[in-house]
Amino acid sequence: MTTPSAYDQLLDQLEKLPGIGRRSAERIAFHLLRQPADASVALARALEAFRTNLRVCGVCGHVTESDPCPICTDPQRDGTVVLVVEQPSDVFAIEQAGSYRGRYHVLMGRLAPMEAIGPGDLNIQPLLDRVRSRRGDEDGAVREVILGTNPTLEGDGTALYLAEALTELGVSVTRLARGMPTGSSLQGVSKAVLSDAVQARVRMDSHR
Ligand SMILES: [Zn+2]
Repeated sequence: MTTPSAYDQLLDQLEKLPGIGRRSAERIAFHLLRQPADASVALARALEAFRTNLRVCGVCGHVTESDPCPICTDPQRDGTVVLVVEQPSDVFAIEQAGSYRGRYHVLMGRLAPMEAIGPGDLNIQPLLDRVRSRRGDEDGAVREVILGTNPTLEGDGTALYLAEALTELGVSVTRLARGMPTGSSLQGVSKAVLSDAVQARVRMDSHR
């Protein structure tokens, strides 16, 4: 039996997305077929607008409509402190908590040896360059890097790797405090816990 080509085309595209296998792609396709045609059009338009209007900030790696992003260019923010997170959604979560006034660096993932995700696969070198060259912020050098990777095995491993690399560059390295339950994600905890975690961060550059 031959399948309609438009069906195959959609499945091919869906299957390229992370975490979507053939089964999930089929489920999404049939879900869309059961919805009014408008829903598919709205999805297609949202995808197009997303990709046309959003880009990655060349300084911090956050998603933005302008490059550099509004956080990197905001003169009210403290450019000497950089909070490193795994995903853009972590920036949204911390911004919602509202107590952090420094800048960010988004890794776009975490080190995961089991999945063969190494330092070269993440936005790590630009972070080291940003700290080393003292550029990226017009208002001066980066003095402190706060590691805000998730309190998971892989997030902790990523933090340890970064702490070592950053300490060598002579910058102060801290880690978000552990009010956060182990195994949780930054997006999953309350604003209050997130604020406390930023305020009560602990040093990781232990040699000082
Ligand atoms: Zn930025």
